[in-house]
Amino acid sequence: GSSSSALNFGAGPAKLPREVLEEVQNELLSYNKSGMSIMEMSHRSPEYSKINTDAQAAIRELLNVPDNYMVLFMQGGGVGGFAAVAMNLINRTGTADYIVTGTWSASAAKEAAKYGKVNIVFPKPEKLGDIPETSTWNLNPDASYLYYCDNETVDGIEFPNMPYNPHDVPIVTDMSSSIMTKKVDVSKFGVIFGGAQKNIGPAGVVFVIIREDLLGKPMDICPSILNFTHIYKANSVHNTPATLSVYIMEKVLQWIKKNGGVEGMEKQSLEKSVFLYKAIENSNGFYSSPIDKKMRSRINVPFRVGGPNGDESLEAKFLEEAEKLRMYQLKGHRTVGGMRASLYNAVTLKEVKLLVEFMEEFQNYTLS
Ligand code: PLP
Repeated sequence: GSSSSALNFGAGPAKLPREVLEEVQNELLSYNKSGMSIMEMSHRSPEYSKINTDAQAAIRELLNVPDNYMVLFMQGGGVGGFAAVAMNLINRTGTADYIVTGTWSASAAKEAAKYGKVNIVFPKPEKLGDIPETSTWNLNPDASYLYYCDNETVDGIEFPNMPYNPHDVPIVTDMSSSIMTKKVDVSKFGVIFGGAQKNIGPAGVVFVIIREDLLGKPMDICPSILNFTHIYKANSVHNTPATLSVYIMEKVLQWIKKNGGVEGMEKQSLEKSVFLYKAIENSNGFYSSPIDKKMRSRINVPFRVGGPNGDESLEAKFLEEAEKLRMYQLKGHRTVGGMRASLYNAVTLKEVKLLVEFMEEFQNYTLS
């Protein structure tokens, strides 16, 4: 029927679980039989306070967050987080180390340079995803923190493990596109932050998981809405939050819990990405991944159609044919070109199998 779901491979804002959207729809006009929408309620109401508490608790439970870490919600998007990280942390020594592996970490480093000295750990590799030997990394023992982007959404590069950190400085990571897609040992991080709009909710909320001892040293110029210490003290209701977004995020987190938790998401994420990369590898070069195998993202899979540099007219045709089958948002980022399939938590293995089936048919048809 017309209301059945499209196959949405968009990079974000991205597909949300259907069950969650239905629940939201059912409650939209009257939350908890109140005769009011959650959108119409005070952020200091008992109803919203419970949502705020439950969302924090769900993140704690799902990621096994240790007691000495705080879970905060703020606004400003992932990009707001870039500035917030620097303004809250760089003051410790005035300098920070940035690992730049793609678009978003480059953007974060540029933003941070407005607030302190940014040291780029290694020069931009010639081939994306080619991270140089750790022995050549230029790490500063006095860095306030070591920053990296766990999953480069635009480029399709996932950091394979924790970065080399011989001086044991606090590690800050952007998990906008990888949060809740794999188990993480939170205790190894200083800060984990990101926008919710890919794996855990709609746009409008930024989650911040921060080790307690990193609070309390913001720059004087840090606006209060980006001040982690301030947000923590106000339990994330310092000013009016994006209440609707937090409400929906809380429901997505409960959905993750019901669907095997982070372990379940990780298992599914591996199955989906292995299936798609195999199809790319088995296409005799008709499809190709531009990223080194070790660094390929499980979450965002860029690929070219019709050869390693892509055939743009074939790629346009690919998108057109995909849309006829209601497969949407497969176009790669404008800076990268080609295709990109994003396989966030709400995208099922079945949907990926349908995509692969289409890819095979498209290849056969083109080559016949
Ligand atoms: N970081 C990553 C890894 C992203 O994928 C995005 C995506 O948009 C951002 C940061 C920027 O987030 P926002 O658009 O919410 O500012």
